[in-house]
Amino acid sequence: MTITPALKDIRALSLEELTAVIKEGNFPAYRAKQIFEWIWKKQKTSFEDLKNLPEEVIDHLKSEYCFRPVTVEKTQFSSDGTIKSRLQLHDGHFIEAVLIPVLDDNRFTVCVSSQVGCSLTCSFCATGKMKRIRNIEAPEIFDQVAIVNRQCQEAFGKGLTNIVYMGMGEPLLAYNNVLLSIKHITSEYGMFMSSKRITVSTVGIAKMIKKLADDEVKFNLALSLHAPDDEKRSSIMPINETNDLASLMEAITYYYQKTKNRISYEYIAFEGFNDTQEDAKNLVKLCRHFPVRVNIIEYNKIDGAEFAKSNGEDLDDFVKYLTNKDVTVTVRRSRGKDIDAACGQLANKG
Ligand code: SF4
Repeated sequence: MTITPALKDIRALSLEELTAVIKEGNFPAYRAKQIFEWIWKKQKTSFEDLKNLPEEVIDHLKSEYCFRPVTVEKTQFSSDGTIKSRLQLHDGHFIEAVLIPVLDDNRFTVCVSSQVGCSLTCSFCATGKMKRIRNIEAPEIFDQVAIVNRQCQEAFGKGLTNIVYMGMGEPLLAYNNVLLSIKHITSEYGMFMSSKRITVSTVGIAKMIKKLADDEVKFNLALSLHAPDDEKRSSIMPINETNDLASLMEAITYYYQKTKNRISYEYIAFEGFNDTQEDAKNLVKLCRHFPVRVNIIEYNKIDGAEFAKSNGEDLDDFVKYLTNKDVTVTVRRSRGKDIDAACGQLANKG
């Protein structure tokens, strides 16, 4: 009995590796560049879609390689224009990606996932209730962007303007995949988007933030802060026990000094928990280490969570305190709540 070796994902190859494969088949090296362009610029996900290539080249590739594209299983439309897609990976797992249009601003943002499930168990987050299954591969992250970009063009006649790595999972625990996906998205051979339009959001892993600095990345960094002191933060985000605020401030200062990239804090406002004047005072202290913008996010209750959304008056006073201390603050209304697409709600409910 002959055993056929498992096919490998062609999109996992770098241009150099693909060129070597092409040369092995005695085909000219420029064919690799052509294929790379079909794959990343034109975003084709099957051998049948690669045109202008001799059949022998395709047959040579097919003998060892395959495509493992992400497919759309279901799309939901919110009354506020948000579109959530439930996407299926080649091994049957599901993930979610969300398109958030802000028409007044001409801003069309995709929120992508970096892991199937998550191991970090933040108490306010629906994804944290699922166990981590695996990291999402770089081509699979790229597919989320490409799919939602097409949706955006169909629905609004324009492509995406921004990308945030803020969906399911912790991006810095899928580090290599996230960085490689950004390389494909920003490269000339790919979507050629500016890194300045990309934000990677982390719950805060100090050594990985320093690694981003050492790797001289060009994208923006967001820290999911959500509480302004260690005690409160550890009570809702277990990661804080090993990566406390002092270590995060030190790591982000290092990141800022090396890259000068934009930094923001994400801060979900929970009633009576982190929206008091004392909290505002503590938060101001965390804004003095480097230039930072605070994005206050409206909380979306998930099943089984103990928190409630901060009410109007307390939140107004909280924001007022920050602005009086010259902190740049944006209050973000929640989007896509009616389809469970809002921040912290992604959980593959279908
Ligand atoms: S907030 Fe992020 S890191 Fe925390 S459980 Fe949810 S997906 Fe994981």
